[in-house]
Amino acid sequence: MNPIARNLQSIREEIGRAARECGRAPGDVLLLAVSKTFPPETIAEAVRAGQTRFGENRVQEAEGKIPLFGPDPKLEWHLIGHLQSNKARRAAELFDVIHSVDGLKLAARLDQAAGEAGRTLSVLLQADLAGEETKFGATPEEIRALLEAAAGWPNLRVDGLMTIPPFFDDPARSRPYFERLRRLLEELESERPGCLGRRHLSMGMSHDFAEAIREGATIVRVGTAIFGSRA
Ligand SMILES: *Cc1c(COP(=O)(O)O)cnc(C)c1O
Repeated sequence: MNPIARNLQSIREEIGRAARECGRAPGDVLLLAVSKTFPPETIAEAVRAGQTRFGENRVQEAEGKIPLFGPDPKLEWHLIGHLQSNKARRAAELFDVIHSVDGLKLAARLDQAAGEAGRTLSVLLQADLAGEETKFGATPEEIRALLEAAAGWPNLRVDGLMTIPPFFDDPARSRPYFERLRRLLEELESERPGCLGRRHLSMGMSHDFAEAIREGATIVRVGTAIFGSRA
């Protein structure tokens, strides 16, 4: 077995283990393979190993990769990196899910572009729970304002929340951020039932996805543990 197939298999096993340990069904956690910086041939290997969901963090890089896979209904492409409004149009054409919606202007641009492309785009609202000036993402109050405005975006479906905690060597230290995101989703859903669509929680990366699953992650974004370290 090639290394990518082997890594995918062991991560799927770890996801299953973490889910079962806390009474969740392994199938409730989606594995997003973060293929940023890796070439199309590497992604194709993962596809051959049965992987269907891929995450990219830059529109420009993705433009050179995603179209090579054609319109394949089995494959799903997720944008996980910061998105500038001026790239919203291209992003709405390339991606199936955008994890990084954090402002009204960006959402409005995505809605318009999705409408023009004749599609409904699934989006997650990115929460900044660390309050770090350098981080992208919306505060809980800004997220409430986004949900207030969401009725005006007929071509977007808000499907949940995403967060990127500060990096800690010890994955246990990420857990309070994952817990905060889960609580935020619960609060928002009780204030406005149905407002978060499929109620996705996109959280957890290579080193801390098991902790994220214990706090309810439904999408884990794993790069290094599948593809190896990035140059
Ligand atoms: C790169 C990236 C990941 C994957 O990180 P790994 O540590 O390689 O698993 C996950 N989420 C986001 C937003 C990223 O930019």
